[in-house]
Parts: sequence; C-alpha cells; structure tokens
Amino acid sequence: MRLVLLGPPGAGKGTQAEKLAARYGIARLSTGDMLRAAVAAGTPIGQKAKDIMARGELVPDPVVIAIIADRIKEPDCVKGFILDGFPRTVAQAEALERLLAQRGLKLDAVVEIRVDEGILIRRIETRIGQMQARGETVRADDNPESLKQRLVAYRAQTAPLIDYYGKKGSLRTVDGMPPIEEVTQAIFRVLEKPAPAKAGSRPVQARKKASLKKPGQRARKAARKAKKKARTLRTVARARKRVSVRRRAARRGKAKSRQSALKTARRRG
Ligand code: ADP
Repeated sequence: MRLVLLGPPGAGKGTQAEKLAARYGIARLSTGDMLRAAVAAGTPIGQKAKDIMARGELVPDPVVIAIIADRIKEPDCVKGFILDGFPRTVAQAEALERLLAQRGLKLDAVVEIRVDEGILIRRIETRIGQMQARGETVRADDNPESLKQRLVAYRAQTAPLIDYYGKKGSLRTVDGMPPIEEVTQAIFRVLEKPAPAKAGSRPVQARKKASLKKPGQRARKAARKAKKKARTLRTVARARKRVSVRRRAARRGKAKSRQSALKTARRRG
C-alpha cells in the first residue's frame, strides 16, 4: 500500500502516519524528519536546508525529490510506504508519479486531514510545552513567526494538491478535529472502503441503472413500452383480418366455380 498524508502543519500527520505504518506494516517516510536528521548530521543537504526550514519556508523541490527518489528504493519500502510531508508542491507530486511509474507502481490513496486553522497554533504551542516538559530540544521552526510562514507556504504551495488529487480520484478527506484515536479510525475506514468513482467514469451499465432509479423517467419509459406493444398488437390484428378476408373470398370463389361446373354437367347430361 502506498499512501500520502496531506494536511497543514499541526494537523497530526506525523501521529497518524505512525499508526498507519504500524497497521499496514509499511514504511513511514517523513521528509521533515529526514531533513532534520540531515541538519543535525551537518550533511551538505542539511546545511542547505537548515535556514530555509528555520524560517518555515519550503526546501527546493529538486532537493526533496532526490531524497525521496533514493528512499523509496530501500528494501523496507517494498511492501509500501506512507509519505508524510511529501509531496508539498504540484511539481513534487508530478515527480512522485514519475518515480512510481518507472517502477510500474502508483499511489493507492491520498488522505487529507482537515482541521480548522484556528486550532493549529494552539496545537503547536501544546507540542512545544510537551517537548520542553520532556527536556527535548524544541524544533527551530516551532515558534510563532515560522509557524505563520509554514501556514502561508501550506496555503500557497501545498493546498493546491487537494484539487490535484481530487481530480485524479485518489483523495479521501477525514476530519482531523476529533481526538487522535477517532481520526485514526476514520482514516482506516476511508482506506478500507471501495474507492469513490471519478466524475464521468461510471460504467454504462451503472449509468443506465441509476437513470432508471428516477421515478419520472421510469414511468415515462413504461408508458413508451406499453404504447409500442399496443401498436404491435394492432398491426398483428389488422394483418390477421386481411388474411381471413382473403381466405373467405377464396372459399367463395371455389364454391361458385363448383356450382357452375355442376350446372354445366346437369345441362349436358
Ligand atoms: P510540519 O508539517 O509540521 O510543518 P514537517 O516536519 O513536515 O513539518 O516539515 C518541516 C519543514 O521541513 C518544512 O517547513 C520545510 O521547510 C521542510 N520540508 C519538509 N518536507 C518538505 C517537502 N516535501 N518540500 C519542501 N520542504 C519540506
């Protein structure tokens, strides 16, 4: 199973991605985590990404695309993966499609976790508080300024993916406002029910059936059928009548010729 999780910062993508990875036995690929690891390790990619990330902006597409291209080749991705934080732009989504197509693969679903923007800041503040309480280092971009910029980037560059995947028919949306466990259950439900049909892609048979369901149309069709049957019956009756008239005329003709033959015989004889 190959999945993408979409949603603004603070929507709970990371938490849900972990639960999905456990349920389906697939790898969780978080570009945010990978980039933070690169920053911590001081790799060339990390050095490039460090300041961009701290400001809450997006790391250039070619950098993240190259990271994902390498990562999905790893053996733990054979059974599938869940992408958390990638793709974040239409260009990344297109690159992902190409990368998968090269291996004869495609995405199974894209799950959008929808939340009210008003609660995002509060959620992240809670996360900062929890991290501080555990004595962990707070993320460089978990501050009001960067958070504002992360939301701007989400709206401008990532939100268009909702429409992008919606048109492809792979988007499933869940409400991200209820408690974590309820959101997880909602995601399992949308993933385990049959895919919704893309607009205009219903098979002919289904379209016919659906149209017959409309009561007005059904009545009109029945009336047309009855009229046609009556017309056929009238035609058959008329044809039968013509045949019997002809037969009667033929019988009368035979009788006459028989009588005249008799008369002639009597006269002669
Ligand atoms: P969140 O979703 O909470 O904002 P992430 O951990 O997913 O955080 O990402 C943190 C930062 O890492 C982003 O603000 C961005 O700078 C960078 N990043 C992660 N994924 C991508 C990506 N796919 N494209 C560009 N930048 C990314």
